Amino acid sequence: MQDWIKTVPKAVLHDHLDGGLRVETLIELANQQGYKSLPSNNHDELKKWIQPKPNKSLAINLEAWDHTIGVMQDSDSIYRVTMEALEDLSNDGVVYAELRFAPLVHTFKELSTSEIIKSVVNGIKDGMEKFDIIAGVILCAMRQEKNSLEVVNLCIEHSDVVGFDLAGPEVGFSVLNHDRACDLALENNVNVTLHADWEVPEGIKEVVLDSKAKRIGHGSQIINDISFENEKVTFNNEAAKYVFDNNIALELCPTSNVQCGAFANVSEHSFGKLYEAGFNVTINTDNRLMSDISMSEEVNNVVESFDLTEKDILKITKNTIEAGFVKPDLKNKLLEKLTI
Ligand SMILES: [Zn+2]
Repeated sequence: MQDWIKTVPKAVLHDHLDGGLRVETLIELANQQGYKSLPSNNHDELKKWIQPKPNKSLAINLEAWDHTIGVMQDSDSIYRVTMEALEDLSNDGVVYAELRFAPLVHTFKELSTSEIIKSVVNGIKDGMEKFDIIAGVILCAMRQEKNSLEVVNLCIEHSDVVGFDLAGPEVGFSVLNHDRACDLALENNVNVTLHADWEVPEGIKEVVLDSKAKRIGHGSQIINDISFENEKVTFNNEAAKYVFDNNIALELCPTSNVQCGAFANVSEHSFGKLYEAGFNVTINTDNRLMSDISMSEEVNNVVESFDLTEKDILKITKNTIEAGFVKPDLKNKLLEKLTI
């Protein structure tokens, strides 16, 4: 890895809190709580068990979430995981981070949804002060559940929350089933970003045109909705044109996409072509623990695959912060410090 990649200011919009724990924290929390279900309490063995397996169609270990969520059922653990996420990101040169999580899956013990959100918000506030990073939290509802209205209402009640997202399986679980939740968010000025990964061809349209999301979680498949004629981009449908014309940020997660089988490797990822075509691309980790990836490594993969320079990354960082949901005054202070 070239030296500048670690130190260049980086920004991440798409990072799941429950997908980014440190392995040692997972083990320590399990021990403290008497949580007996971990497949191993040995650091290296557990890391290996969680890590994506090469040559498998779905390399990401979905079972790992049972354990990370399993140990995040009390305020102290949720606060610790949030603080550590900001510490790790800051140490990796990240200056702006949005963390997301689904509050309703942390209610298995005694916590109320408000207590859960406050634990993360307090972690964000303290982490911002301690680790010199600007951060915000997005609340996720799950597409396969029927409680998205409740999650939007939590976004409205907690003014420190910066946005709303729909995550979870996409095939058979359209965002259109959550139209009332998205409308409610819109009416109450809650920022919306919705997952639209690679499996549903009409996903981008449903997210930006039907649901009016301000950003797209992933969105790499938009490459199928555009063509290149004499190096000029043309749009095959209204949704792709809308995304381009409105500078809608694509929260691209190259490593996660490769591990899920959407692309053979990062070099084949649509990132390069979309960047060249002038789409508002951002670089994201998705799940640092499950994908065994850091932000620097993610940026490095993109730099090496598409021959990008430090200037390119700084420009992407600036665009990423501008697309961020955190209050403008905090973003502007940060943007003033970034010189290209
Ligand atoms: Zn995601």
